[in-house]
Amino acid sequence: METLLKKRLLILGGTSDATKLAARASVISGLEVITSLAGRTRQPHALTGNVRIGGFGGVAGLAAYLRDREINFLIDATHPYAAQISFNAAEAAKECNLPFLMLVRPPWQKQEGDRWIEVESNEAAAIVLSKQAKRVFLTIGRQELAAYANLNDIWFLMRTIDPPTLGALVPNGKLLLDRGPFTLENEHKLLIEYQIDAIASKNSGGDATYAKIVAARELGIPVVIVQRKPQPAVEQVIDVESAIGWLLNQLQLVNG
Ligand code: NAP
Repeated sequence: METLLKKRLLILGGTSDATKLAARASVISGLEVITSLAGRTRQPHALTGNVRIGGFGGVAGLAAYLRDREINFLIDATHPYAAQISFNAAEAAKECNLPFLMLVRPPWQKQEGDRWIEVESNEAAAIVLSKQAKRVFLTIGRQELAAYANLNDIWFLMRTIDPPTLGALVPNGKLLLDRGPFTLENEHKLLIEYQIDAIASKNSGGDATYAKIVAARELGIPVVIVQRKPQPAVEQVIDVESAIGWLLNQLQLVNG
């Protein structure tokens, strides 16, 4: 009988915050948690609660899923650069009249000593690098490598979680398969060992990949930062704790 009364939360995941949120939300009584993954990473972190994998099929597909599975709350905890799914989620939640929250890590802020060059796209980052770098640490993600593939005068150290898909355009250099968190010592060592003269990075925020920014600051290495894209204008929180607070509040509202 009790399961019939349970409320359902769908978390759009693929980040460490989403993993932490699923673990925290799963212990809230009367709540069933489902995390959705796009299916890009071969071995995603273990998740607490139910997991579904793969795209929904745009806004219509997501809205149909929300209705079919009788989802009560939707939290978008995807990566700040996963813009499409966030806009889809905002639209589908509106269509289904569902309480919707975005959990978005705040971007890193430029500190004294940082030599950041902020650009709007990977294509713009490639142009900047072509003018001033010879050995680049590329930490932009597997799916964005192609934008740098025609920079034949640059040697790239490319760090990705999974290898590029077969046939994908990959710049000249070395592939390093690794997954954060990374230590400052590790990042220092890489930058020196490979004689890196520029880094290209997203502004992911959070601690797990921040050490490269600190190492670059300490070594005086420029970092070309691809800025975040606009996000839907919806309710947002910046950490898991606040997302849990929002959820408890929503549960109270629906349970009376
Ligand atoms: P995206 O460009 O915003 O989304 C493209 C399409 O992938 C979406 O329209 C959706 O397909 C599907 N999708 C994305 N996230 C999904 C999810 N959590 N569950 C089900 N379907 C999802 O996303 P992306 O940048 O490719 O990122 C994909 C996943 O990787 C996300 O879960 C994100 O959190 C994670 N990630 C991304 C980055 C990054 O830098 N972009 C970094 C770390 C982790 P349909 O339209 O068919 O529903």
